[in-house]
Amino acid sequence: MLVSALSSEIRTEILLLAGDAGGDAVRRRAMGAYLGLAVGDALGATVEFLTPNEIRSQHGQHREVIGGGWLRLRKGQVTDDTEMSLALGASILANGGVDPLAAAEAFSDWMRHKPVDIGNTVRRGIATFRRTGVPEMPQNEFDAGNGACMRCLPIALATVGADADQVDACNQCQAHVTHNNPTSDAATLCVIRMVQAALLGGDRNDLKLLADALVAEDAAFTYDRKRSENPSAFIVDTVRAVFQALFATDSFESALIDVVNRGGDADTTGAITGMIAGALYGPAAIPARWVRHLDKRIRHACIEQAQELTKLSPLYAVCLQPR
Ligand code: MN
Ligand code: MN
Repeated sequence: MLVSALSSEIRTEILLLAGDAGGDAVRRRAMGAYLGLAVGDALGATVEFLTPNEIRSQHGQHREVIGGGWLRLRKGQVTDDTEMSLALGASILANGGVDPLAAAEAFSDWMRHKPVDIGNTVRRGIATFRRTGVPEMPQNEFDAGNGACMRCLPIALATVGADADQVDACNQCQAHVTHNNPTSDAATLCVIRMVQAALLGGDRNDLKLLADALVAEDAAFTYDRKRSENPSAFIVDTVRAVFQALFATDSFESALIDVVNRGGDADTTGAITGMIAGALYGPAAIPARWVRHLDKRIRHACIEQAQELTKLSPLYAVCLQPR
């Protein structure tokens, strides 16, 4: 699906941005989002599946990219969250747009290369695609894991400037290869819109309005009651932890440290918090000691895809092209 139309609400913002050399700011924040995703994945993976108490006794407060964890990662190694995002991003760039078949083939290639980690729903979706050739799972009320949300960043970058319905349709192209579930779709669209609002210069309050709109749509996402600790891979648990960490802190570093020390699916809460906070605070706010330890090949791919995917977006077509 090619992205073309542009909502009037966004158009107004573009005009504001264009008067302010906004194109550079959007490209910088896109880089922040992609590096933030990878850094959050690498930081969180060390403590994935630990409880907050186990983290405290093993690490005190976990705040360095050191590898290890149940996957025995090298320092700076990322997991499926970042790898599937890069696979999806490469398929979008190769096709000049979001295509479900290309996404499914990219995921299948990725699985063939023996990834360090893969979720059950993802494995089942890819296996089904290999058998049937159909890049869409049937709708399933139990497939509400966070596996489609964790890899949504390329969609956010390639569709910035599109209206919400188009963004949703593009996201479902990639999401439904493995996760065809309305709760996952709604949360993922919300995360994408938060990234896009931040790319366009929105602040934390703007992002909170989007989170609150999701809660208004489905009260299961209510995040201002009980503290979310040890969040599972259920998308509702995952985004509640992300929202709490994001809105209780005021920097990239503090948001990431907050969310990964909650344990549970910490690489994925780290990845999702990282993509939003990286867009919000920009790449300069990501601690250099975290970026430095990232696998070099991954770091370069993140930076390159951030720039190239943004060029495909309706926003770029209107105001970011060099004249
Ligand atoms: Mn992972
Ligand atoms: Mn995970």
